[in-house]
Amino acid sequence: MRNPKSYTFTITIAYWLMNSCDFTSLGALPTIAPIEKQTMTLSPMQPQTIVIVGGGFAGTTLARALERRLPAGWQLVLISEESYTTFNPMLAEVVGAAVFPEHVIAPIREMLSTARFIMGKLQLVDVHARTVRCDTLAGPRDIAYEHLVLAVGQRANLNIIPGLAEHALPLKLVGDAMHIRNCVLQRLARMELCDAPAERQALGHFVVIGGGFSGVEVAGALADFIRGAQRYYPRIIPTELKVTLLHDGAQLLPELPQSLGRSAAKSLQQRGVDVRLGARACNVEPGGVVLADGASLASSTVICTIGTRSNPVIGALGLAIVRGRVVTAADGAVQGHDRLWAIGDCAAVPNAADQSISPPTAQFAVAQAQQLATNLLAHINGLATQPFSYRSKGMMATTGHHKGVALAFGLPLTGLPAWLMWRAYYLLRLPTLGRKLRIWVEWTWSLFFPADITHLRFTRTQDVDMPAQAVVAALSTPNPN
Ligand SMILES: Cc1cc2nc3c(=O)[nH]c(=O)nc-3n(C[C@H](O)[C@H](O)[C@H](O)COP(=O)(O)OP(=O)(O)OC[C@H]3O[C@@H](n4cnc5c(N)ncnc54)[C@H](O)[C@@H]3O)c2cc1C
Repeated sequence: MRNPKSYTFTITIAYWLMNSCDFTSLGALPTIAPIEKQTMTLSPMQPQTIVIVGGGFAGTTLARALERRLPAGWQLVLISEESYTTFNPMLAEVVGAAVFPEHVIAPIREMLSTARFIMGKLQLVDVHARTVRCDTLAGPRDIAYEHLVLAVGQRANLNIIPGLAEHALPLKLVGDAMHIRNCVLQRLARMELCDAPAERQALGHFVVIGGGFSGVEVAGALADFIRGAQRYYPRIIPTELKVTLLHDGAQLLPELPQSLGRSAAKSLQQRGVDVRLGARACNVEPGGVVLADGASLASSTVICTIGTRSNPVIGALGLAIVRGRVVTAADGAVQGHDRLWAIGDCAAVPNAADQSISPPTAQFAVAQAQQLATNLLAHINGLATQPFSYRSKGMMATTGHHKGVALAFGLPLTGLPAWLMWRAYYLLRLPTLGRKLRIWVEWTWSLFFPADITHLRFTRTQDVDMPAQAVVAALSTPNPN
């Protein structure tokens, strides 16, 4: 903690010097406001604040990059609706029970050193008064800012296919991944108790919609999981279990070269996954999926990995939006607004490296955050900001059973080398040393032992002794999930 008296003294001397000398010939220097205002805003009691909203890849990377470099008189506040950041690329591993859910998330407070963290949900931004209002556990709070960075990501879109919201399981949050895993275990448990062949067929059929990175990884992880779990369900025969991957394009992983898309399909097919290309799901029903060609697939479990929509808070702010993302200038500044910035999935940040709009991926969110840290400091110091410019280092996906596909620095890889690269890369990228160690132990463990089939139900003491009628009613009510 700095000594307030020495702090005020230093600032007063600094401003006295600045106002006494002519620095214009030296070029880029901090903009100097009237001394009374600066003394007031820079006093240790009221430092100027950079507020970051969103504790995902973009927000936490920016906060960590700024913490180390923030000049005196400035403070950092990170607001996020959850207390943790989610390492989304590993959600498929949670679905497949290869890792525990707690290990793909990291508490934001643990990731920060000097920044203040407020668990709260952004509700309003007053760009004129430069304040944000967020709902916190202690009620609404107004926070004044000098610079505001929006990094609120996107939401899953459950309206792109009729019936999706009601009958499918989205994969966007860690809670979704845990729910899918529990549903899969529930289906296996029901199969053990059910004799009707048609019902058994639907229960044992897991359909994944979307042949992008998440869809491919979930299909591979699920195929491994149900194959490993089957031994604990003696009344289920292996041929009764099936994973189908639906993709409306001609190639899986369309962002990768065709050869890698084909390798991914082949690898999944070798694991027994039914890969259907050019198969567009047009309706999700309680009993399965209807395809655009009229075919229908009986399935009790439909997992959706496609479709995103704008975060509602972005729409409510009335900013210019393209494809659900805030339009920004090349340096990440929100167009038409002073001291308002946006990065990550919620922002359409132009990429000077190839004159395109950055894709919504973690890799770009992190790179934008690093650039914005430099730009914010430049802005504070009255220097010119730089356009965001980044070339992707590569892309990879696992396809299950120690296999994957990768394009790293232009080099295509398949099979075990790609899978090892995937694991090594994400182990390095995981936040905090503790998380890295835990995941490493879990991965090593899973090489030798079967996946955990615990079906956690979060039953509380108040629930265990429900009246008998309530138990009968609960059991006889069909559970959609
Ligand atoms: C299943 C899955 C797999 C993926 N795999 C990969 C991959 O392999 N490689 C890759 O590069 N990318 C992958 N992605 C995409 C990647 O996760 C995103 O591009 C990345 O998370 C974007 O980071 P972000 O910080 O912009 O948004 P997010 O990570 O979504 O973070 C947004 C944050 O804002 C918070 N927030 C939202 N609204 C509010 C509000 N109103 N108030 C306060 N806080 C709010 C959220 O709680 C969250 O903490 C995957 C995504 C998913 C869903």
